[in-house]
Amino acid sequence: MKSKVDRDLRLLTNFARIYCDNKHASLDKTIWRSSHLGLSENSREKSLRLCQECRDLLEYAATKRKQCPLDPKPMCKKCRIHCYSSDYRSKIRNVMRFSGTYMIKHGRLDLIIHYFF
Ligand code: SF4
Ligand SMILES: [Zn+2]
Repeated sequence: MKSKVDRDLRLLTNFARIYCDNKHASLDKTIWRSSHLGLSENSREKSLRLCQECRDLLEYAATKRKQCPLDPKPMCKKCRIHCYSSDYRSKIRNVMRFSGTYMIKHGRLDLIIHYFF
């Protein structure tokens, strides 16, 4: 059974992919591998391409998720610690808002059932 951390890392990866595909279509991108997060890759993730900004944000958010000291982890927006810097916090909320709406419109409620921001 997949761990909660792995599940959240996959969700973060999906959020970043959707955001970058739709908002940064014209930017230079490089292949980004989910194995960087210690995850096995599914076929979609093998061809995941991200711009530098989304790559930085995803890696920052993944590090915070892996290092989260709270168990059970609350939704970050309800957290008393708020471990993100204000800049990254603002960026991840934009990505969550856009990609969460996108997933709902495309019937992927299963992916955001554990929506955590
Ligand atoms: S904001 Fe709070 S819940 Fe979210 S990763 Fe940081 S410490 Fe954990
Ligand atoms: Zn991007």
